Amino acid sequence: MDKTYCVRNLDCAHCAGKIEEAINKLDGVESAVLIFASGKLKLKGEVSISQLNKIANKIEAGVEIVHEETESEEKSSLKGEIAVLVSGIVVFVIALLGGKLIDSVIIKIVLFDAAYLILGHKILISTIKNIASGNIFDENFLMTIATLGAFVLGEYSEAVGVVLFFKIGEIFEEYAVNKSRKAITAAAGLRVDEVDLLKDGDFLRCSSDEIIAGSIIRVKAGERIAADGVIEEGETRLDTSAVNGEPVPVSAKAGDSVMSGWINLSGVIIVRATAAASESTVSKITDAVENAVASKPKIDRFITRFAKVYTPVVIAIAVLTAVIPSLVTGEWDKWIYTALTFLVISCPCALVLSVPLAYFSGIGAASKLGILFKGGTSLEALGKVKAVVFDKTGTVTTGTFDVTEVYSYGELMESEILSVCASAEQASSHPAAVSIVRYCEEQGIPYSEAENIRELSGRGIAAEYNGKSILCGNRLLMKENDIRLTDEEITTTGTIVYVAVNGVLVGAIIVSDTIKEKSASAIGQLKNMGLYTAMLTGDKTENARIVADETGIEYVKGELLPDEKLAEIRKIRDKKGSVMFIGDGINDGPVLAGADVGAAMLSGSDLAIEAADAIFINKELDSAVKAKKIADRTLRISWQNIVFALAFKAAVLILGIAGFASMWFAVFADSGVAMLLILNSMRVLRTKKI
Ligand code: ADP
Ligand code: MG
Repeated sequence: MDKTYCVRNLDCAHCAGKIEEAINKLDGVESAVLIFASGKLKLKGEVSISQLNKIANKIEAGVEIVHEETESEEKSSLKGEIAVLVSGIVVFVIALLGGKLIDSVIIKIVLFDAAYLILGHKILISTIKNIASGNIFDENFLMTIATLGAFVLGEYSEAVGVVLFFKIGEIFEEYAVNKSRKAITAAAGLRVDEVDLLKDGDFLRCSSDEIIAGSIIRVKAGERIAADGVIEEGETRLDTSAVNGEPVPVSAKAGDSVMSGWINLSGVIIVRATAAASESTVSKITDAVENAVASKPKIDRFITRFAKVYTPVVIAIAVLTAVIPSLVTGEWDKWIYTALTFLVISCPCALVLSVPLAYFSGIGAASKLGILFKGGTSLEALGKVKAVVFDKTGTVTTGTFDVTEVYSYGELMESEILSVCASAEQASSHPAAVSIVRYCEEQGIPYSEAENIRELSGRGIAAEYNGKSILCGNRLLMKENDIRLTDEEITTTGTIVYVAVNGVLVGAIIVSDTIKEKSASAIGQLKNMGLYTAMLTGDKTENARIVADETGIEYVKGELLPDEKLAEIRKIRDKKGSVMFIGDGINDGPVLAGADVGAAMLSGSDLAIEAADAIFINKELDSAVKAKKIADRTLRISWQNIVFALAFKAAVLILGIAGFASMWFAVFADSGVAMLLILNSMRVLRTKKI
């Protein structure tokens, strides 16, 4: 059974990974995914909650796992932490001053101990738990022996200093994590819990879970729409910005489609839901986002492995430093102090904290701009991309076609051709199909529902209608079914949807499409960033070439089936390097999954959301530019952090082992660098200039 738990007080991404690993090893657990971004644990299997808590607490003290429904308003643990910090500092200052005034060792020890325990009890508890569970080597252990050693050596203020700065570092981290988490889960705020649902002729306040396709809901001014649907009654203006980033409100009236997550700004509207709330756009987005941080980038895994080897090595060096020179010189105090200093400096906290945070912030920054990454891996892969390949329809062009011409080749009149075609196409979400159906509605041309409808990816539709077989689609579809096309030339530019009845061509509908407003400028910017651009489409090459010329795309290839698109992408990858594919998701599943990075423009297709590595909620192509910029910056900043942290650590370690670094210096160096790098990672969150 699938269960979801809330995990509270989880502040370190590194620990989240460790907790997930430990829970996965428990008996009875089939699989567990701990999502750091939303603080949720998704679990398959039978295991008690107390067992989960025990495991989690061993790894990060204070973590609490609770059932989802019992979770109350999340209290800010940050405030609590700051209170602890302040009281610790107060006691510490009293101890420092008191130590100067009163010359009593006992009072000194009591005061310093108090400050130490206030600030460092979490570290001590974690260490004890770690030892009990046999997982000894981590930063808590390093801290504990270093500080207890300092106490033994009589360096009270140094001992307190270590835990004080560590606490400050932790608070910084928690702040940074909260900030990114807020950006990421802002999408979750789009969910609506309660709605006015029509039941037996009355609108009743109900849970939004009760909405099914066909339900009628009432949305008052100021309310968010709970499910995707169509307006039945009323006229209003809608704020769509939270879902697609469009700042200008749109007006809508009866017959217009609305999306979950939009806010009703003025009048009351009655909406007929086209999907359950849990299947609506907003839920798909939030699910994708919640899983966003579950996949870890390679860099992150490298660091986890690194920390596992590094810590025991450091401890071994420290022991040798304490023992060997002391045996030779007899100066035990000096060398033990040097060894302890070395231990404090050695904590790889800055690295472990700042690199995952950079990725986390990258995902957060992107989601503020309406770009959802499915995890650090996708961000990392995008950073390495050298070529961008576009789908045409719905991606570079708006995909809202207009019927511009209807040719009749037989006895059927134009309106009859449209009617037959719409009857077969009404089930398809392909932009060409949608436009033909819409055109019939606008023109009052009646159509009904064909039977045995099969969508043939990259070709069109096959169906049965009034006992006749119908084919609607491109030239390839006609060729495959041995349907003779006419010699009459079609002069209108646009996508041709041929219509055949019982194996005979009866007509052709030309639909044409316009280029999106920002396509040309976005493609120009991508080229300026040194990226190779290409367009692969199932449409005719002539149509594709016109679009490519107008937008500046370097390479075009038309008349491709989805798997041929994938083969083309492989060719481009061989020549240019890593490839990002951007599509609207209709007929693009294999390509989205097969490219190094697949990005789907949010459309009606669930498949695309599943197959893609990134989802562009905003349908303009500038999302691609922004996504690439964020990915580049995330990679750059995380490498800066890695190089700086390692170089600095190496330098200080050498100073430490040579006896040049005091414990104070060690503490400053470590927390200082950690904070600096955390701040550096947080730069990724800034999106003003993107
Ligand atoms: P693209 O998105 O690049 O146009 P697709 O694979 O989605 O590529 O479609 C390829 C071509 O197949 C379209 O240009 C259109 O001619 C035809 N086609 C696909 N689906 C349909 C459909 N439902 N109705 C009519 N034509 C279709
Ligand atoms: Mg397409």
